[in-house]
Amino acid sequence: MKKEFAVIGLGRFGGSIVRELIKQGANVLAIDKDAERADDFMDIATQVAIADTTDEAVLKSLGVRNFDHVIVAIGENIQSSILTTIMLKEIGVDKITVKAQNDYHAKVLTKIGADKVVHPERDMGIRIAHNALSNNVLDYLELSDEYSIMEIQATKKLGGYSLTELDIRAKFGLNIVAIRRGGEIIVSPQADFSIDHEDILVLIGSDKDISRFEKRIIN
Ligand code: ATP
Repeated sequence: MKKEFAVIGLGRFGGSIVRELIKQGANVLAIDKDAERADDFMDIATQVAIADTTDEAVLKSLGVRNFDHVIVAIGENIQSSILTTIMLKEIGVDKITVKAQNDYHAKVLTKIGADKVVHPERDMGIRIAHNALSNNVLDYLELSDEYSIMEIQATKKLGGYSLTELDIRAKFGLNIVAIRRGGEIIVSPQADFSIDHEDILVLIGSDKDISRFEKRIIN
């Protein structure tokens, strides 16, 4: 059966979620209190509703409780985002993901029971900063306050060495979890795996260790 999603707030963030979910074959109810915004999704979403989601009765009448996953993509209006999340919790929605505008907003959302809190602008800022610091850092993904995943281009500095020779785990506390070579992905490469300068390494570790590695090895 197709998964049922509801996306509340159809700005750039919520709008791109709706488009991608539809592209991936899901059913999506797209909701915005602004009629013009909602209208833009008439031909895109499975269903569209013009509604203020801070009103519990409105949420109930839309049957939002029956959806597998509700995504709250209201950013700027923090009060509306918090109130909507409380209402969704109260009516018993299974899974709620909410976009946070800042750290205080995120804290409140977690306290009131959001299952997942995302910070798209902050996360994209961090990723771009790491890429700007070193052209060899292709991507950077925060896993928690302390741990991240980084994708780096091996370059000539690391090319030709085996994982044992580089010994990144002992020297930097980082684990190479995968290597991308052309279209292929080698998951958990063995110790004797020899790195090519064009390989892309996927590393996992603490932010402190990643930063040490970035400064010493890849700049
Ligand atoms: P983005 O950064 O994603 O482009 P934005 O800056 O355009 O977002 P936001 O203020 O983050 O706009 O809000 C996203 C959408 O959420 C807007 O279209 C707005 O009308 C809608 N929205 C705000 N409050 C509510 C609410 N209480 N109920 C339903 N929709 C709402």
